[in-house]
Amino acid sequence: MSFTNLGLRAEILHAIGEQGYDTPTPIQAKAIPLVLEGRDLMASAQTGTGKTAGFTLPILQLLSSRQEGLSLKRFKSRALILTPTRELAVQVQESVRTYGKHLSLRSAAIYGGVGMGPQTKALRAGTDILVATPGRLLDHIQQRNADLSGIEILVLDEADRMLDMGFINDIRKIIALLPKQKQSLLFSATFSDEIRALAAGLMRDPASVDV
Ligand code: AMP
Repeated sequence: MSFTNLGLRAEILHAIGEQGYDTPTPIQAKAIPLVLEGRDLMASAQTGTGKTAGFTLPILQLLSSRQEGLSLKRFKSRALILTPTRELAVQVQESVRTYGKHLSLRSAAIYGGVGMGPQTKALRAGTDILVATPGRLLDHIQQRNADLSGIEILVLDEADRMLDMGFINDIRKIIALLPKQKQSLLFSATFSDEIRALAAGLMRDPASVDV
């Protein structure tokens, strides 16, 4: 199995090559084709398995192929990736930038513990891919800095940690603001009843990936 068999466009393969990756990790080999098919996905994966590229690469592929013919100056965000911590949000946005460096998609990382100003500016300028911690994202939504009505893909990354940190109500509030018609991906190291209940309300016929 190589990255070229996965159906990713040349700009993305180029960026992967620049990172020095030659073989997809097991989670990538299983998840990428399913995400590209448009399936909802529940994936059980620890950090260190390459899960970030497992969702970032197909999201870049889907958004860039649907973008053709659209104006680049879109205001509404199209993909939302929720993470439990600021560190993870920064790291995931870094991956989005790295793998998307030969594409023209814009991204922003939104997290608490820093001023709202620079994030507000980034949001108002328009971003395609939003990587955010739940509490700070809700603050921006309340201030009308973020518009989630055009979200096509939602990722809950490290869902078990988000629930352990008490974000369930924030996550539910955010999900309620998203379009009903969207693709949802959930990554978690463990699957509690609470996570299964969250997924049951969110997903349509999800594929399961276990590594
Ligand atoms: P993650 O589990 O997403 O935090 O990724 C763990 C590490 O694996 C990161 O430092 C990635 O840069 C690296 N990585 C991801 N995919 C691959 C791959 N296919 N080949 C080699 N390294 C990878």
